[in-house]
Amino acid sequence: MTGTVTLVGAGPSGKWLLTLKGAEAIRRADAVVYDRLVGEDILDLIPPDAERINVGKENNHHPVPQDEINAILVRCAKAGKNTVRLKGGDNYLFGRGGEEIEYLKENGVPFRVIPGVTSALAAPAFAGIPVTHRDYCSSVHIVTAHARAGKPLGINFEALTAAGGTLVFLMGLTALERVVSGLTGAGMDPATPAAVIENGTRGNQRKVVATLADLAAKVRAASLHSPALIVVGRVCELSEELDWFTPLPLHGKTIAVTRPRARAGTLAERLRDLGANVIECPCIETREPEDDTALAQALDAHWNWLALTSPAGVPALAHALTRLGRDLRAIYGMKLAVIGAGTAKALAEYGLTADLCPEIYDGAHLAEALADAMQPGERVLLARARAGAPELPEILAARGVDFADVPVYDTVYRTDKADLLRQELAAGTLDCVTFTSVSTVEGFVRAVGETGLTGFTALCIGASTAAAAQKYGMTVKTAKNATIDAMIACLLEE
Ligand code: SAH
Repeated sequence: MTGTVTLVGAGPSGKWLLTLKGAEAIRRADAVVYDRLVGEDILDLIPPDAERINVGKENNHHPVPQDEINAILVRCAKAGKNTVRLKGGDNYLFGRGGEEIEYLKENGVPFRVIPGVTSALAAPAFAGIPVTHRDYCSSVHIVTAHARAGKPLGINFEALTAAGGTLVFLMGLTALERVVSGLTGAGMDPATPAAVIENGTRGNQRKVVATLADLAAKVRAASLHSPALIVVGRVCELSEELDWFTPLPLHGKTIAVTRPRARAGTLAERLRDLGANVIECPCIETREPEDDTALAQALDAHWNWLALTSPAGVPALAHALTRLGRDLRAIYGMKLAVIGAGTAKALAEYGLTADLCPEIYDGAHLAEALADAMQPGERVLLARARAGAPELPEILAARGVDFADVPVYDTVYRTDKADLLRQELAAGTLDCVTFTSVSTVEGFVRAVGETGLTGFTALCIGASTAAAAQKYGMTVKTAKNATIDAMIACLLEE
């Protein structure tokens, strides 16, 4: 059966400005055909087994021609795949969505269209510019200023000037001078307020606000680049007063989040909320251990305590029990020790309350707290990552505690975001890298290499993570206690 092609507008930046319906379509897709300007975190929503086809232009490569894109869409659909066609902003606003739909229709492919938040409206909103305002204008006109070599722009500047509304020009940065002279030539006051917004709605957004007369010179001086749009009209006067985005505390900061995808959510989202340009680059991933024999054997014995040393360890243990044909009743009666608040929270999701949590959230303090709390003859089972940090078992052994250390998950390093990270490092644009465990430090170093790890702050969750980062010569800041809140507080102190 022929699959459906769904055109999804991806919005101007990341998944925050993607519609819920669009996200749902991506999550259900068998194939996704996407453009260049689509945010990385949106591409991360694509199911791992779905086909991904990049038809956008990258650096020196040319974009895939439109008729080839059309053919790809039909081929995917005819292969029975529900296909998402993902485009930046809105599909139909200078996105050639109409042409694609016409072609699908001609070929009998069923289609849907999910609109997206267009940069034409969103970038001004993030730059403090309401595109209409009753005191200033009563219309907004969105215009393409795409310049073809040697050809005139083909814009009716007289009509636009006469209309008196706000003007938004897309694809117009290279033609900025011609746009300005076109408008002033048609009688627009050179003192009219105007703006150019680069990377609108993204953490690295920049804007230049000036009069029409000064705009081009100021934009060239600030060397703004694509993607950028031009806004012309009195509403640009409001851009200082109504700016809410640049005053955010982390605006202008580029921060890499290295924790695994499932756990990056809260940290990455909170950093974005504070205005940061966040790069999600999971450097580790948790996997099922190759076998569960150690756990199976351990469960045959009697344990007074169970110790869990990371939030990921909790579902990992539950899953391991399921694989063994058992469930949480296998740990019935054991007292529960956790390394920190995050792990306690993960336990709470299973309706379990931690009995012991050290004041300082690390392996050494957990070991000491356990050794202090345990009665003579009591035994503790450590359920954690294979080859976990050595402090916990070392201290327990030194204090004469009877324990077993069984793996419930493996930590594997991921290097799929290595290129992105290396680019940022080479460009010197990375302000901060967050590390929430020793393994994230190790994974990051494996991804980018051991040299040149300067020029950014390594924000570490605790002392052992900080020591690992220091070992590679990174400049380190350590959170006061091992929580995401404390990490963020530490960043905001700067
Ligand atoms: N369909 C898209 C527009 C495609 S044309 C939409 O609805 O947003 C591409 C042009 O959009 C770029 O040349 C630039 O002018 C503008 N653009 C896209 N993303 C932008 C962003 N984040 N900030 C500023 N301009 C952007």
